[in-house]
Amino acid sequence: MLLRMTTHMHFRIALFFAGFFGGFALFVLYKTLGVSSPIDPLLFFASMFGGGFLLQMIFSRIFPAPCPMCGAAAFPTLTKPMLYACHGCGRKFDGGMAYAFEAMAPKPSNSLWRKKLPDSTMMWIMLVFGIVVLGGALVFAADSVRLLVKGVTTEARVVKVSVYPLRTRMDYRAIIAYKAGDSELTLDRSWSVDVGHSCLSPCYYEGERLKVRYLPAEPTKANVYSVFDLFLGPTLFILIGAMCTLVGSVALWRARRPRLEL
Ligand SMILES: [Zn+2]
Repeated sequence: MLLRMTTHMHFRIALFFAGFFGGFALFVLYKTLGVSSPIDPLLFFASMFGGGFLLQMIFSRIFPAPCPMCGAAAFPTLTKPMLYACHGCGRKFDGGMAYAFEAMAPKPSNSLWRKKLPDSTMMWIMLVFGIVVLGGALVFAADSVRLLVKGVTTEARVVKVSVYPLRTRMDYRAIIAYKAGDSELTLDRSWSVDVGHSCLSPCYYEGERLKVRYLPAEPTKANVYSVFDLFLGPTLFILIGAMCTLVGSVALWRARRPRLEL
């Protein structure tokens, strides 16, 4: 089945992100099995980018794009994912250009739509914000991966939980003590619960026994040893960053349309 170039490309972008997060989820699953190997940092990035690459490539084999020269089915090449090879006429073309030409095709409501175009500054801010958040999240995630790969697990105990009641929510702060070699160190964890809601992970109670993972070379680099504690934060930031990057770049792409037509 041959899709329109624009539809085909939108699916590819969406599937790239789906594969990216799917790969991340698979990696987390693999780590929860308790397996560890020296190539784990490589696996971490390979699973995300590999997942993103594979999913949209498989999609492109099943739903090829139409060749702009002859209309036959065209497939992205493996080495250059934006370069398409046509199976009808054998020629190659740039998928981004083909997308732009189709997106630029005149539409009846175009002049009206052009007037309603928002200022592109907002889209740029969104795009840059998204990339910065995504970059930070990856560094954050790399820290968690480093703890998993090079860290040591030790027994820990929640020594104190302080509660700060506010009007609409309760703020909590826990002090978690752990032993790193001969020294006794502590970790601070804070969370809030809205009034009338129950706490979603992670929440700790006084006296609770946990596991903490720390770096022997840098014992203050530590985190509670659970999937939630290690990966909930990075995952949320990756999601927010990816969403802003996606929305910003798609909006900028669409905003170019009328300008190209003049
Ligand atoms: Zn062709």
